[in-house]
Formats: sequence, structure tokens, C-alpha cells
Amino acid sequence: MKLNITDRFNKELPADPIMGNSRRQVSGACFSYVTPKKPSNPSLVHVSPEMVEALGITESITSKDFLGVFSGSMVLEGTQPYAMCYGGHQFGNWAGQLGDGRAINLAEVAHNDKTWALQLKGAGETPYSRTADGLAVLRSSIREYLCAEAMYYLGVPTTRSLSLVLSGDQVLRDVMYDGNPAYEKGAIVCRVAPSFIRFGNFEILAAQDDVETLRELADFTIKHHYSYLGNPSKETYLAFFKEVAMKSLDMVIHWQRVGFVHGVMNTDNMSILGLTIDYGPYGWQEGYDHGWTPNTTDKAHKRYRYGTQPQVVLWNLLKLANALYPLIEEVEPLQAILGEYQDKLKIAYLTMMRSKLGLYETDTHDQDLADKLEDVLQRSETDMTIFFRLLADFKKDGSTAGLELVKEAFYNPDEIKGEVELQWNNWFLAYSERLKIEQKDDVERLAGMNAVNPKYVLRNYMAQMAIDAADKGDYSLLDELFNLLKQPYEEQLNMQKWFAKRPEWARNKVGCSMLSCSS
Ligand code: AMP
Ligand code: MG
Repeated sequence: MKLNITDRFNKELPADPIMGNSRRQVSGACFSYVTPKKPSNPSLVHVSPEMVEALGITESITSKDFLGVFSGSMVLEGTQPYAMCYGGHQFGNWAGQLGDGRAINLAEVAHNDKTWALQLKGAGETPYSRTADGLAVLRSSIREYLCAEAMYYLGVPTTRSLSLVLSGDQVLRDVMYDGNPAYEKGAIVCRVAPSFIRFGNFEILAAQDDVETLRELADFTIKHHYSYLGNPSKETYLAFFKEVAMKSLDMVIHWQRVGFVHGVMNTDNMSILGLTIDYGPYGWQEGYDHGWTPNTTDKAHKRYRYGTQPQVVLWNLLKLANALYPLIEEVEPLQAILGEYQDKLKIAYLTMMRSKLGLYETDTHDQDLADKLEDVLQRSETDMTIFFRLLADFKKDGSTAGLELVKEAFYNPDEIKGEVELQWNNWFLAYSERLKIEQKDDVERLAGMNAVNPKYVLRNYMAQMAIDAADKGDYSLLDELFNLLKQPYEEQLNMQKWFAKRPEWARNKVGCSMLSCSS
């Protein structure tokens, strides 16, 4: 396979001198060389044509080489695959060394002025696999593969997906951690991003007091991914931290806009480029609920629920600030950046809500209008996606009966009475009044709202339906959803069936509303 290989991470940063996959604590290094496991009988499930093109891959996707490279059975000539070393704070606690336990970086590839890192997820053991097997199952691989591309087309910063293959091997998993393990089909996703460096890559070096390697990693990251910040210096490290903070803020505001709940926002799952990374037990808001998390592993504290995501990013940034401190040795400027995050968060969140509501003129009461909407939306289960899409049809002349317009969004229409009904009517009255100062006409406002409020998202049950079919060897639904989600803001009238509330059967089904970290 002819690719324009431009390896930098494993050429410029220190390597673990020990070879092989034996589990070990690694020090003085940013990565360890590993070889992907040869799958017993690999077969191609799906490929993203856009990523094939972005990477400049000219081989046919049905070729032996394509399957060989992206299933891990063939190593690209001139490359040295590796697993990255990182640590992280998991659910609020320092977890020590984590690292790529089942991700193997194949190479970096340059094409059309962009450089991409290619990584196989589920390609076997590495020094960082701890007690696990380094493998992934079809279920979680479909979820990662589909959602990363869907997020890209929603306009959310994210890692991308190139390919999904079955390994032909069976993998044992206990889906709900309840002592009922079963074999599932093994799978491998090739994911792609300008870089897979995480907050945790810096944290592990700081925890080891390895300031020299920490500096090398920071300089590398700035040189290749934040080169506009200039040459390394204390000021540059601070500017770097600020950029990471602002990119992370942008990412999480997008999550709130589209109703995405990551589920495991540990610092090892925070990209240094502000990309959504590591699609595990994520979920989408169906009933709008700040308290919702799909992750059953986080059921007790709901640390990573929808409503707290922007604050969790701040907490994670504090951990990154601590990790970068040895390079800066001054607390105040780091603290000032965290303060700035909080100030900007308030502004960015309101700006996002205003865009969802189609408010373009300035009015000092918009915060109140948004707050009141968020409150009433949670009074009775209301589908977030459907609500905002229907709201775009509200007419400025006051002729719209608001509740009638959005009634499809309610899961229990019977509950919209008494106090709740009054609250809704008051809100629509305020909204109607507010629209009077808008210069845009109804058509323009509808276009603006429909460009930020998706019509189609990867609802939890949709992914599960694609998984159930794929498990039986039918990939047609996977392909249908993949294509549907490439145009999430378009009407796509022949796909209207996916513009619907979650069916009742999916309410409490494993995989639809309940997901664990088992993958
Ligand atoms: P996650 O919370 O899924 O991002 O994973 C946390 C850590 O566990 C990372 O270091 C992963 O590489 C590792 N990990 C997760 N699943 C496996 C697996 N099946 N085999 C080896 N390592 C794993
Ligand atoms: Mg992870």
C-alpha cells in the first residue's frame, strides 16, 4: 500500500527500550513498540469513503492489502507500530499508568497538507493492557465507528473512522459486569486523527517527575499541532494551555448543543487537540435531562451526566495545568486561564442556546429565557432533538400555538397539564414576545435554527439496532445509518422514520439506555 508516511511521534520522542507486549510500568518514554495481533480470519464490514480519500489511499478497499493493513495482519513497509504511554484521573482519582491498552498506532500519513495518525483499536495486547486482552467487540466497535463519523458531520470536533473489520476471533465479555460473560465477535476499528495525544500523556510524565520528557512532549505537541504559538518558552507553554482550554470548551459546547453525553470523561479520554475521543458508553439525549448519563458504571454518582460536562472539562483542565506546572512554575497565570474558561463558558453556552432558539438580536433577558426553557423541558420527558427541530416553525406574528407545534416531542402528552402546561404557555408567550425584535423573517430564522439543531442523531436504540443486525451478518442498517448521519441537518424525507422518539421497547434495554464500560 502506497501511503505518504511521515512518522513523527515515534521518531522524535523517546521510546521504551524494551520490546514486546509484556505488561510493565514504563518510564522515561512516551511510547512502546508493539506488533498488532494477527487476526484469524479478518473480513471487512464497512469503510468511510471520505477518510479513504482524505488519507490518499488509492488501493481498492476490497484489496488484500487494505484488509491486511487495517486488520493488523500486515505491517506497512517502513513503519514501526507503537502504543502510547499515558496516565489519567478516572472518576476523580489518579489511576497511575494506563496507556494504549488496546490501541496500536500504525503510522502518521500526510496527504493534501494534512497529517493524520492511524490507530487500530482492538488489535491486541500491549505493555499497557493491564489485566485485559487488548481486543474489542463488534458491538462497541460499531458504536465508535458510526458515532465518530456522525459527530464529524454534526460539526463537532472529533477523531474520525476509516474502517471497521471483523477479526474472525471470539472475544469474551461480561456486558453488564454481572457475572454472565459470553463470547462476542471480535472487531477492529481504524480510527484517525491529527494526533491521539491526551491530557494523560502529560500527566504520567509529571507524576513520574520526568520534567525532561515532559518538556520534550510539550515541545513536540506545540511544534506539530500548535506551531502558530511559536518557539518553546514559558509564555508558549501558557499559550498552549490556553489554546487547549479554549478548544476543549468549544468541543463541550458542541456536545451540549447536539445532546451528546460522553459517559467517561476521564483525563485519559481528553484529547490535547480538543477532539471527542474514545467512544465508549456514550449516549444521546432523548428526553432532555441534565441529570442523565448512559454509563451504568457511573450510576451512583453520575459524575459525567449531561449537565455537568462543561464543569468536568474544567476539572480535567485543572489536572492538565498541574501536569504542565513544572514547565511554567507559576500558579497565577494557569489559574487565570481556568478563570477565563469559566467566564467564556457562560458566554459560549448562552450563545449556543441563543442559536438553538434562533435569537440573533441582543436582548438582556435571553439568559432567563434559556434557563426557563431548560427547566420546563425537564418537567415532563421531552425529546431534545424533536423539540428544537419543531420549534423552528414558530411564527413571529404570534399566530403559533406553541404546545401544539411541539407536541410530537412529548413522551407523555398526558402530563402536559396544570402547572406544567401553564409553565409551557408562559414560556411560549415570552418566546413569541422575544421574536418581535428579530430582524430575520421566519424563513431565515428557520434556516438558521435548522443549521444548528440536527434532525438526525445516532439515537441510542438506532446504534443498537444496527449492532443486532450486524451481529447476524446484515450490515445494511449500519450502512443506512452511516449515510443518514452524513447529512444530519437535512430533511431527508425518505428517512423520516428516524425522526422519531425512542420506541418504548428501548427505554430500559441494555445498549439503548444502559451501557457499561465493557467493550
Ligand atoms: P477507557 O475508559 O475505555 O478509555 O479505557 C481505560 C484504559 O483501559 C485505557 O488505558 C485502555 O487502553 C484500557 N483498556 C480498555 N479496554 C481494554 C482491553 N480490552 N484490553 C486492554 N486494555 C483495555
Ligand atoms: Mg480511553
